[in-house]
Amino acid sequence: MRIIIDSMVCCGSSECIKACPEKAIVLHDGKAVLDEAKCDLDGICIPACPQGAIGFLEN
Ligand code: SF4
Repeated sequence: MRIIIDSMVCCGSSECIKACPEKAIVLHDGKAVLDEAKCDLDGICIPACPQGAIGFLEN
């Protein structure tokens, strides 16, 4: 399981960055980018995104 952020959908609102307790997301060139090494897969960022750009991906 992974968290994925769809950069085509991300609007750069930074709401996921504020929501993430692990500080696993940063803004790069106006898009949210995930550091998977920091992510603990709690899923808090998913409902925080106003665009619905974040989700779980089975792998
Ligand atoms: S799943 Fe949790 S730890 Fe991972 S990026 Fe989202 S809020 Fe941060």
